[in-house]
Amino acid sequence: ARASAASAPITPGALADGTAIPLLANLGNPAGAAEAVALGAEGVGLFRTEFLFLSSGSAPTIDQQKESYTALLSAFPGKKVVVRVLDAGADKPLPFLNDAHEENPALGLRGIRALRASEDILREQLTALAEADAATRATPEGPADLWVMAPMVATVEETSYFTALARDYGIRTAGVMVEVPSSALLADRVLAHADFASIGTNDLTQYTMAADRLLGSVASFQDPWHPAVLRLIREVGDAGRLHGKPVGICGEAAADPLLAVVLVGLGATSLSMAPTALADVRASLLQFSLDDARRVAEAALAADDAASARDAAREAAAAPI
Ligand code: PEP
Ligand code: MG
Repeated sequence: ARASAASAPITPGALADGTAIPLLANLGNPAGAAEAVALGAEGVGLFRTEFLFLSSGSAPTIDQQKESYTALLSAFPGKKVVVRVLDAGADKPLPFLNDAHEENPALGLRGIRALRASEDILREQLTALAEADAATRATPEGPADLWVMAPMVATVEETSYFTALARDYGIRTAGVMVEVPSSALLADRVLAHADFASIGTNDLTQYTMAADRLLGSVASFQDPWHPAVLRLIREVGDAGRLHGKPVGICGEAAADPLLAVVLVGLGATSLSMAPTALADVRASLLQFSLDDARRVAEAALAADDAASARDAAREAAAAPI
């Protein structure tokens, strides 16, 4: 029985009513691609590019980057691959990019802010991505569907800056991560300037709760079930529906099988997670229709705190439909 289960084809992510919810992988290195595919990832929802930059004292060359991006794209022919440009800050400082002496690194020159201050690095990364895309277009397997997004976007202006620059380099699908409350609150304006949004629930929770995600003494605040976080996610989901644009989730929250249902109920159109979480989330989504998911989300949104939101969602999920 085990052998036949292992060899059964893995179905794409979907709700009980057939609504497709693509299930994608978070990857930090192209080396993880094969495992992700084996576990049924329908593409990549977050490719973190920091690994290319963190290991040396200088920025990687365009050719070094192109090699990694080509390896990644080649593993997903015909599939969506969302690459995030460098997310460096004083918490993961780079000698050629950051001043490591900020008192509050999470609130400092990080993400798109740091890239703008060293725009040559961003331009080189976009060049390497466009070249990798072009290189895989010529392969017999065909190209992946490359999407590129910026981290830590806090303003509409940063959104239009990034998407315009990415398009200048031939990137066809350019979006932003929504992981700062300001961009969640203005999601309808942000999405007017971006092709898609991807919600980073790790940072969105940190900034909503004003609790450093790396600090053990405030770890109890780092809970994406908090209704304040869920309400911000709903803003982004509503904006996505308004503009007819995709809203993905790529923070840890997407890997929680019940929270995944809530996120879909709030308007998420795809979920990206560590590949090992895909099977449980896939099984969970199959138990709920979109109407169910919305009802479960409403129950969580109405709660006072994270623990009661989780309980309310559990209760709503168990209730007869
Ligand atoms: C997030 O903040 O949720 C996210 C996906 O990005 P990272 O964890 O790399 O900051
Ligand atoms: Mg983040």
